[in-house]
Amino acid sequence: EYRNVGFIGLGVMGLPMAKNLARKLPDGTKVAVYDLSTAAMDELSQEFPNKIVKANNAREVFSHSVSRSYSACTRTRLLKTNIISQNLIVTMLPEGKHVSSVYMSSETQLDSVDLKNKILIDSSTIDVETSLAVADHVAKIDSSALFCDAPVSGQAQGAIDGTLAFFLGISESHGKYKVVSDLVRLMGNKDKVLPCGGPSLGLVAKISHNYLAGVMSVATCETMDLGIRAGLDPKMLYRVLCAGAARNPMVEHANPVPGLVPTAASSNGYKPGFRASLMAKDVSLGVQMAQTYKSNIVLGAPTMDVYRRALPKYGGYDFTAIYRLYADDQNG
Ligand code: NAD
Repeated sequence: EYRNVGFIGLGVMGLPMAKNLARKLPDGTKVAVYDLSTAAMDELSQEFPNKIVKANNAREVFSHSVSRSYSACTRTRLLKTNIISQNLIVTMLPEGKHVSSVYMSSETQLDSVDLKNKILIDSSTIDVETSLAVADHVAKIDSSALFCDAPVSGQAQGAIDGTLAFFLGISESHGKYKVVSDLVRLMGNKDKVLPCGGPSLGLVAKISHNYLAGVMSVATCETMDLGIRAGLDPKMLYRVLCAGAARNPMVEHANPVPGLVPTAASSNGYKPGFRASLMAKDVSLGVQMAQTYKSNIVLGAPTMDVYRRALPKYGGYDFTAIYRLYADDQNG
C-alpha cells in the first residue's frame, strides 16, 4: 500500500532504519532521502539504486511538486526520479531545534507544500513542546495530514537488526494507526510497537523510560564503586546484585565495570552503544517535562550533575563510561 516514502536524518539510527525500509518495501516504491551529510545518502543509493532517490533538501522530500525555482534540467530529473509523491515521511533528527528547522523553517516552507493525507512520523527523541508545536503547525496547514511522534528504543544495533521498540503518539483507534504501525514494523519488533495515546504521548513514554535508564545508570555506577572500594571482588558483587532484588539490565547486561560482561560497552573500550551525551539529553528532557507537568522528581538533578561532569571527557563514549568518574578518582 505504500506509494512512496521519505526519510530525513540519516545518522547512527536513521541510516540503518532507512536501509530496512528500502530493503523491505515492495518493488516500485521509492524512498526519497535527505541528510545534511551526502555520504549517508550516497551509501543508501549505492546499496539500493532502484529505490533510493537523493533529495537536495527537506522540502523536496515533503513536496508533492517540484519547485519552480529549480532549473528545467533539475526539475526534469526530479520528476523522472519520482520524488514528487511521498505519502509517508519519517524524520530521525538529534534534537528539537533540528526538528523545528526541518518542519517549520522558512527554508522548508511546509505551508506551501501539498500535505493532503500525508503522514509525517517523527522518531527523534525531543521535547514535548516542540513536538506539539510541529503537530499544530502541520494540522493548521492541512487537517487531513497527520504528524505522529514515534520515538524508538533499541540503540544502533536494534536499528540495524530492525528490532527497535516504537512508542507511538497515536491511539489504536485512530483511523491512521494501521498505516503508521505497519510502516514502523518494517524497522522494529512488531511486539514492541506500542500505541501510547494522543499527540506527544509517545515522547512522554520515551522520556519517562530514558529518565529511569539514566537514573539507574548512575545508581549502578555508584553501587559498583561502593562495593569495590569497600573490598568486595567485582565479580562477586556482580553475582550478588544479579541474585537479589537489585538485579536490573544496567547491572546485568550493561555493567559499567570492564571485564564483568564481555558484550558490555565497558569491556570494549566504552564504544557506543548509546552515547553519554544522548543519555544526558534524555534525562534533561525528563527534568524539563517534570517542570512542565509539575512532577516533584528529585533524582534528575543529581543524575544530571554526574552527566555534566562526565560529558567533557566521555560525552562521545557509551553512557556507561560515566563510571570512569568514580574509578578514575579511585586510581588518582
Ligand atoms: P545522529 O547525530 O547520529 O544523526 C542525526 C542525523 O541528522 C545526522 O546525520 C545529521 O546530519 C542529520 N541532520 C541534522 N540536522 C538536519 C537537517 N536540518 N536536515 C537533514 N538532516 C539533518 O543521531 P542518532 O544517534 O541517529 O539519533 C537520532 C535521534 O534518535 C536522537 O533524538 C536520539 O536521542 C534518538 N535515539 C538515538 C539512539 C542511539 O542509540 N543513537 C537510540 C534511541 C533513540
